[in-house]
Amino acid sequence: MKTKIETALNEQVHAEFFSFYLYLSMAAYFKTQHLDGFAHWMRTQAQEEYSHAMKLFDYLIDRGGDVNLLGIDSPPANWSSPSAAFEAVVKHEIHITNRIDELVSLANAENDHATSVVLHWFVNEQVEEVSIADTLFHQVKMVEDNPHGLLMLDRELAQRPDVSLTAPAGGE
Ligand code: MG
Repeated sequence: MKTKIETALNEQVHAEFFSFYLYLSMAAYFKTQHLDGFAHWMRTQAQEEYSHAMKLFDYLIDRGGDVNLLGIDSPPANWSSPSAAFEAVVKHEIHITNRIDELVSLANAENDHATSVVLHWFVNEQVEEVSIADTLFHQVKMVEDNPHGLLMLDRELAQRPDVSLTAPAGGE
């Protein structure tokens, strides 16, 4: 595996772990707001980010690359409102999408087809991530001045199934 690709994949592992930290921090924020369903949704989202990091971690090892775990900065701990938190999720996922797109371009430029294929899983995943976050952002914005609506949405988000902590299959 070329050093350029190895470095870029390690940086993406780091970006996925930062996403894990960010959504875990949002889970704690929603807990302090007594919105337990929102907190559960964010905690599940954090678990999904952990599994994304591990998918790339496993791939680096499979390809004989070195894993270099980089330091993770503290995420923000507070948001001005539930919709502000979800707006931050949308912005963050667009940022991650841009990073994945750059990685695909790099893998293609370096003729690293195996890496391109693994990254295609992430390309599809990001479409879903941005779409879900954007829908929730708008729904939260619609209801957040209405306690009844907010509690209804909280109960809905509480139903999100847990995700596996093992790296998702596919694209390999
Ligand atoms: Mg991710």
